Amino acid sequence: MSERTILLASRNRKKLDELRRILAPALPAVEVIGLDDVASYDEVPESGATFAENALIKARAGLQHTGLPTVADDSGLAVDALNGMPGVLSARWAGSHGDDEANLRLVLDQVGDVPDERLGAAFVCAVAFVDGAREILTEGRMPGRLVRAPRGTNGFGYDPIFVAAGHDRTSAELSVPEKDAISHRGQALRALAVELTKQPG
Ligand code: IMP
Repeated sequence: MSERTILLASRNRKKLDELRRILAPALPAVEVIGLDDVASYDEVPESGATFAENALIKARAGLQHTGLPTVADDSGLAVDALNGMPGVLSARWAGSHGDDEANLRLVLDQVGDVPDERLGAAFVCAVAFVDGAREILTEGRMPGRLVRAPRGTNGFGYDPIFVAAGHDRTSAELSVPEKDAISHRGQALRALAVELTKQPG
């Protein structure tokens, strides 16, 4: 572990790679490690009402258990016609955690009678950084609309039914660099990198 190690409170290798890619230019001397690289601890329930609250809950738990400056994110899909839901419940909308296909099918059923022109939605991401002295929160938002027939095999979650504003392809049809450049998570992580450069610890 290097002198400047940051914990990303996630086991998701793709998120770790993304955070490393985005933080590296802003903080070249920082090593980013994940939950699989530290002694395991009981992860706290994501009980917050907002993405920001959940990101902070996870980041504070990481700092408390490891003593390391910790970054955590929380994200989801907010559908206009469903008053912003599934929102913080995105990962478990159909009941069991992380059943992407069931979650996506349930959202499509729920907007079955909604006219096409009211299928607006957005992916939203909050990122929290805590190090004992500071708590930094950033947010990113990728606006767009839902499509009724899933398309594409890249990405995960609701990507096959979401088309970002200004695009024709679903986010599951975009390449990784194309999605990184516009995604809610990419925006929130880049905003964090800017804040960390402005306020070096
Ligand atoms: P988490 O923040 O990684 O726990 O993600 C919450 C849930 O939101 C995921 O399980 C997905 O269902 C959904 N989600 C978040 N970001 C994306 C995305 O970029 N594409 C598709 N689904 C997403």
